[in-house]
Amino acid sequence: MNIRANHLPTAELQALDAAHHMHPFSDGDALAKRGVRVITHADGVMLTDSEGKQILDGMSGLWCCNIGHGRRELADAAHAQMLQLSYYNTFFMTSHPPVIELAETIARLAPEHMNHVFFASGGSEANDTNIRMVRHYWAARGKPEKTVIISRRNAYHGSTMGGASLGGMGGMHAQGGLPIPGIVHIDQPNWWAEGGDLSPDDFGIARARQLAEKIAEIGEDKVAAFIAEPVQGAGGVIVPPDSYWPEVKRVLEAHDILFIADEVITGFGRTGQMFGSQTYDLTPDIMTVAKGLSSGYAPIGGSIVADHVAEVINGGGDFNHGYTYSGHPVACAVAIENLRIIVEEKLVERVRTDIGPYLWERWKALTDHPLVGEAVQKGLMASIALTPDKSTRAKFASEPGTVGYRCRERCFANNLVMRHVGDRMIIAPPLTISHDEVDMLIDRATRSLDETYAGLKADGMLVSA
Ligand SMILES: *Cc1c(COP(=O)(O)O)cnc(C)c1O
Repeated sequence: MNIRANHLPTAELQALDAAHHMHPFSDGDALAKRGVRVITHADGVMLTDSEGKQILDGMSGLWCCNIGHGRRELADAAHAQMLQLSYYNTFFMTSHPPVIELAETIARLAPEHMNHVFFASGGSEANDTNIRMVRHYWAARGKPEKTVIISRRNAYHGSTMGGASLGGMGGMHAQGGLPIPGIVHIDQPNWWAEGGDLSPDDFGIARARQLAEKIAEIGEDKVAAFIAEPVQGAGGVIVPPDSYWPEVKRVLEAHDILFIADEVITGFGRTGQMFGSQTYDLTPDIMTVAKGLSSGYAPIGGSIVADHVAEVINGGGDFNHGYTYSGHPVACAVAIENLRIIVEEKLVERVRTDIGPYLWERWKALTDHPLVGEAVQKGLMASIALTPDKSTRAKFASEPGTVGYRCRERCFANNLVMRHVGDRMIIAPPLTISHDEVDMLIDRATRSLDETYAGLKADGMLVSA
């Protein structure tokens, strides 16, 4: 049985998947009943499924495939590295050329003051590292009581115990006794959904001040760090009001706590700078990276650590932490090749000056659609809010997410991967997407919105809560 060569018909692949494969973030029975879509090939921004359908990947896989699918250079790098040194660890006074080269490359691309990297296999693991690192940092500085980490509701920081606890997803906290102790949450800067009568700027300041209030409530001597995504990704591509980050920055400068920028999505060009922290002029102490680090060609993540933090950790004796695959040579070789392509093909500049502005021209025009309230974008991550009444920023009377799900179904039918988060629709296409492909994305999105609108009308669902 050669399933990988896809000699089996779709129905048989679906049956085997249903019988043996447990899917992340899925309702297993519902999925089995409906049947998974089996993706067999990908090239550039286009996916091919087992029926031969061509699907435009508006999400870069899961926000990761920054350079697009199917680049031979990365396959060649993996192949060569596997033959030369497929695996060795970095625990016991050993290292290897790929991990050394990647750490040096990342240090060169990162902000001036960040020249150290601790590797993991993905973003969740890296955030678990961050929890341990910031607590160890304060303990090593003689302040072991500084342990609390402040995060935000509707943040996403991964799905390990630590990552899910740092995240602010209610559905995740509802299962398995999360969050773990020592992690607290403030509100997100989502003006569309939560801004009420405040102007976006007043709202942004109010939400930023919650950080100061939370620090005061807990006591600065107990707070280790604040963690945040420069732009919330999985929360629905929430671009904060312009006033938000400057005010947060002011609060951080006034207090002796660390700032962890979770750049798993925003890193490596997504927002039009190498890192989202540069887009917002932030000075993180640690940056979490994964996804775009290898464009998803191999599982790798890490923590980029500021010099002053690394100095304390390195000077603090054994740091009793690490993963078997910290700095995996094959993943490192793939990441090096990926970063070479991002730099040499000037993909970051392309996002900032060419394809980002082009997408925005087309994306913002979606607000002409009766179903679309706001449209927002930063670089090549963008979202629209669906609403029954844009004049009041109304929510639908139906269960949140019902309309978004219907819209995503229409996108699926129209061969476009556009995700929904509640009743927001989100995209984050590969940084290599062409102008023609952006046009195709907008055409398919518009058709899907039209069909969603018609369906809601027919079903009497264009009703405000
Ligand atoms: C995806 C994501 C993570 C988790 O990364 P994994 O590789 O899935 O563990 C963490 N933080 C952010 C912001 C993410 O988008």
